[in-house]
Amino acid sequence: MVTHAHASGSPGFDSSHSLVSGDVRRHNLELVAGHLVEHGPSSRSQIAEGTGLTRGAVTALTRLLVDAGTIREVEPVSAGGKGRPQTLLELAANDVALVILQLDADEATAVVASLAGDVLFRTADHHGRPMGDPEPVLDVLATVLERAVAAAGGMQRRVVDVTVVVFAPVLGDPPVVFGDSDMGWGEVDVLGGLRKRVPGLPGSVSLHSDAGFAAMAEFDLIPGIRDMVYLKSNSGIGGAIILGGRLRTGAHGLAGGFGHLPMDHLGERCVCGQRGCLVLVAGPDVVLKSAGLGEELETAGLGSALGDLTDRIARGDARAVESFDAAADWVARALHVLSRTLDPQTVVLGGYWSVLADRIERSFAEHAPVSASPGSYLPTIRAGQLENEATLVGAIRESRKRLLHEPLEVRLI
Ligand SMILES: [Zn+2]
Repeated sequence: MVTHAHASGSPGFDSSHSLVSGDVRRHNLELVAGHLVEHGPSSRSQIAEGTGLTRGAVTALTRLLVDAGTIREVEPVSAGGKGRPQTLLELAANDVALVILQLDADEATAVVASLAGDVLFRTADHHGRPMGDPEPVLDVLATVLERAVAAAGGMQRRVVDVTVVVFAPVLGDPPVVFGDSDMGWGEVDVLGGLRKRVPGLPGSVSLHSDAGFAAMAEFDLIPGIRDMVYLKSNSGIGGAIILGGRLRTGAHGLAGGFGHLPMDHLGERCVCGQRGCLVLVAGPDVVLKSAGLGEELETAGLGSALGDLTDRIARGDARAVESFDAAADWVARALHVLSRTLDPQTVVLGGYWSVLADRIERSFAEHAPVSASPGSYLPTIRAGQLENEATLVGAIRESRKRLLHEPLEVRLI
């Protein structure tokens, strides 16, 4: 998503003024490059129209980007046989690649993408979820990373950015995994472990938690929304809060960790020290076990077992339906707490919950306070459109944005 936050406060301001301040100029370069990322080859007038910049500003900015080698002119095309053919501009950075590395409680995935966001290569390996031991998991993560770097090399592309995304909270500088109950992890230095295994790790490398990326990717698909709560389940339960169009991570970066909302004070003790956390009463392990899929979870992994669960629910299998609906009641209660606290316009349910959102929505309506008439403060409940791909889509978008933040430097990284 391109943010139209012009420093002057109004689009189309005087172009000579736009070149006075370095910050404003960099922002406007980012707008031009961002337009080409979003829309592909475009004429100068299309860029002006799309960004709200004046035609004169676009001419000056594109000249700088062409000189830096970030964009280039392509063969003029005739505008429908009428008028003068228009020269189109496109991103020139065809020799660079972005790598996204995603780790969940089931497998490690690596994706090679172009700066335009196209996925060029994808590979994944199961890690077998060895509880409490990060080393074999980091081995698998390093293996898929090496495969992705080799694939990029085979396509004559340099890897300029590696984004590592994990299913657990990430804190600190340098960033580390803060701990995760689904894997029995305490603090784990994922980036340090990767550097040790993959010497000369290319480009910039960063570590992020997955839910924020997934939430922003879903948010961008809903027109006119400002305030959204994202709640998802695949590896455990996670979430994110978007208020006023911005991801809010809180004072310690832990906002959105809904898996450890203490729901049942008489419930089982959680590794976090509380009782009856949402992940213990509605997480994938408890739902799969009570649906009779505990053995499939152990042998075939989380993805396969969750796929089987959703198939069984679709067929009306009584045990699967009963198991999921019991969890859906807890999720619905958590959503009422979040709705009272944050008053979002919408709630998006992601991961495997996206195909079962109607069951959670039904429970949410059943638990609604009688004072809440339809259309009053209650948010709408939506199924995530990107399902399990939301994190990758969001991570690719953020990586592109980060690189284009300094559009004149893209080729120098
Ligand atoms: Zn907990």
